[in-house]
Amino acid sequence: MSDGGSKNYSLTGKRVWINGYRGMVGQALVRQLETIDCEILRTTSEELDLRRQADAEDWMNEKKPEAVFLCAATVGGILANNTRPAEFLYDNLAIEANVIHGAWRTGVEKLLYLGTGCMYPREAPQPIPEDCLLTGPLEPTNEWYAVAKIAGLKMCQAYRRQYGCDFITALPTNLYGPGDNFDPKDSHVIPALILKAHAAKADGAKAMEVWGSGTPLREFLYVDDAAKVLVFLMQAYSEEAHINVGLGKELSIREVAETIVRVVGFEGELVFDTKKPDGMPRKLLDASRLSKLGQSSATGLEDGLNRTYAWFLENKA
Ligand code: GDP
Repeated sequence: MSDGGSKNYSLTGKRVWINGYRGMVGQALVRQLETIDCEILRTTSEELDLRRQADAEDWMNEKKPEAVFLCAATVGGILANNTRPAEFLYDNLAIEANVIHGAWRTGVEKLLYLGTGCMYPREAPQPIPEDCLLTGPLEPTNEWYAVAKIAGLKMCQAYRRQYGCDFITALPTNLYGPGDNFDPKDSHVIPALILKAHAAKADGAKAMEVWGSGTPLREFLYVDDAAKVLVFLMQAYSEEAHINVGLGKELSIREVAETIVRVVGFEGELVFDTKKPDGMPRKLLDASRLSKLGQSSATGLEDGLNRTYAWFLENKA
């Protein structure tokens, strides 16, 4: 599936736009791009509402980004995904449509669109290979988000086919790290459990609640490792097919919770609330396409959690 675009696209000297830069991935991308001699353009949803086509195109016409990391998205954990379907669908469709179409209109040289493991079918084979996209029904707790994100991937492919745009899609596994969202309304499991363990320890509580059965399996990638790979892909990957960004290693939610309480220093009991949803039983990405490109990650979970907790203590506690 190799085609027209450049597999040797240097970001050096380029105007590189990171939208959604207050988000965890946006911030990690900025840290990574600061090691390259390029001009970093950054916007947040307060400064530029990418759901508005005219605003998105005016901004792109004026600033003329040459490379775009499309990270802006309405995102959230299992509760938010399950209870705000309209926002997850509309916001993400509008953002992708406006940025991808605008990128074509304004002559962006390269665009990397961030997908998500939720885009794969609920019953996908594990580890999940790239080519099982759209082969079965989605996980119901996040299908709204997944449908919107799949549309963005298809837009990248369509603009490549019809207009020759060098737009690629990378599909990272669950990410965590400094800058994560710790708001219990819409956080993912790692920041949610860090916050709960921290509060339980401070209150001298005997127990702490973990949602679901503790048996679902997830893999977790430290965000700076992911950013390094994304910057690599921006410069070295140019295929119509999307590429998974993962580790190929997974652990149960119970194991994650146990590691988190150890890092935070909470010594009470874990109580599993099985009235809360488990979501996907397993979500392990097949990372072999990425490893063939010589990319792997270094940060172990406990090390990454220590850094994340340190960031939390400094910024959120
Ligand atoms: P998912 O990967 O899309 O399912 O999103 P999450 O990161 O929100 O949830 C991952 C798993 O962790 C699910 O099985 C949740 O039920 C479980 N989990 C356990 N405790 C929590 C919690 O306090 N918050 C969240 N968001 N998930 C939790």
